[in-house]
Amino acid sequence: MARIVKKFGGTSVADMDRIRNVATKVKRAVDAGDQVVVVVSAMSGVTNQLVAWVSEASNIYDAREYDSVVATGEQVTSGLLALTLQGMGVDARSWLGWQVPVRTSSAHGSARILEIETAELEKRLSAGQVAVIAGFQGIAQDGRITTLGRGGSDTTAVAFAAALNADRCDIYTDVDGVYTTDPRIVAKARKLDKITYEEMLEMASLGAKVLQTRSVELAMRFKVPVQVRSSFSDEPGTMVVDEDQIVEQADISGIAYTSDEAKITVRGVADRPGVSASIFGPLAEASINVDMIVQNVAADGKTTDLTFTVPRADLARSVKVIEGLQGELDYRAISTDSDVVKVSVIGVGMRSHAGIASRMFTALADEGINIQVISTSEIKISVLIASKYTELALRALHSAYQLDAT
Ligand code: ADP
Ligand code: ASP
Ligand code: MG
Repeated sequence: MARIVKKFGGTSVADMDRIRNVATKVKRAVDAGDQVVVVVSAMSGVTNQLVAWVSEASNIYDAREYDSVVATGEQVTSGLLALTLQGMGVDARSWLGWQVPVRTSSAHGSARILEIETAELEKRLSAGQVAVIAGFQGIAQDGRITTLGRGGSDTTAVAFAAALNADRCDIYTDVDGVYTTDPRIVAKARKLDKITYEEMLEMASLGAKVLQTRSVELAMRFKVPVQVRSSFSDEPGTMVVDEDQIVEQADISGIAYTSDEAKITVRGVADRPGVSASIFGPLAEASINVDMIVQNVAADGKTTDLTFTVPRADLARSVKVIEGLQGELDYRAISTDSDVVKVSVIGVGMRSHAGIASRMFTALADEGINIQVISTSEIKISVLIASKYTELALRALHSAYQLDAT
């Protein structure tokens, strides 16, 4: 007997046929004697619709009401799955976040799970009842409903697996595992049998939305064995594991991309100590996360151009902050560009292999793709390029690192 958390994403519960398919999978596990906790997302498209309605109702909205609206998608699917299971003779009930309760911070729209009360769930699991949990939601200390950020049902699932000491957390989705890069963009992407927590964390935070970043953080911290697999087949998926469980490590494990950043260039800033601090300090105070940064000495040799990226959603706010610094910095001009994509290559093998970066730059140069900004860390290299080159760059890099499926 095992205790397993199974999470089903939006496409896996998109209609009643798919919900029956999920129920059949759950029943099979119950019949095999497993204790099963199911976490469901909203039907695919539903959360987007709810978000759109909120924006339509109010331009600058109350985040508590946003959460109250967008959490409803998961209420529907959890109830429908519990009903379908009952119809198949499986003892099951649905649980909303506040009913468990899943206690979270009060950061509405991107709340963090603080604690999950498990005593009642434990009792019922031992008695053979299936718990169908509405993902993505919790309750803040003041009693208001919270949500965990887009893609947050993954985090609900891993958090329950940790809290209930589950043997495994299976994330069922519309692809059969974690691929070397997004299989919807690169046809030659290859499914990985295993990937390390650390690499998965980088992949997720650099744009591979197959797992929410926080879910990987939690899995890594609490050593939850996570498997990403398809809800439409019974094939084994990708195991997310500790580094010592991977025998042969490739230089690069995966390539991710994100269009969530925008570029800002401040031209003609005086080249003197303290200039960076006077730009990035105020941005930090405005809670704007600056990611990539490059500084160039301008043609006149006396001033400098500063280029950096911020979350696209914060672009307008960032420009306002910098315009407010004009008097102090006396820069010449500021320009922005949203037509950019950040492409990153990721691999723990980078620690022990040289030449990984140069291979990236050569592959892009061979395709005539100009690199605008570069940033690196121990296990990843990221470049900012024009977004029209996204597919070309992904394919070129995938081949350059010999990741193509044969
Ligand atoms: P769910 O609704 O089940 O949570 P998501 O849409 O959030 O599913 O995540 C699955 C999607 O992630 C896939 O359809 C795929 O397009 C995308 N994806 C991006 N990068 C990768 C990758 N490296 N491996 C697998 N899928 C990826
Ligand atoms: N339904 C939520 C979303 O679309 C949570 C999830 O699917 O994980 O973001
Ligand atoms: Mg998802």
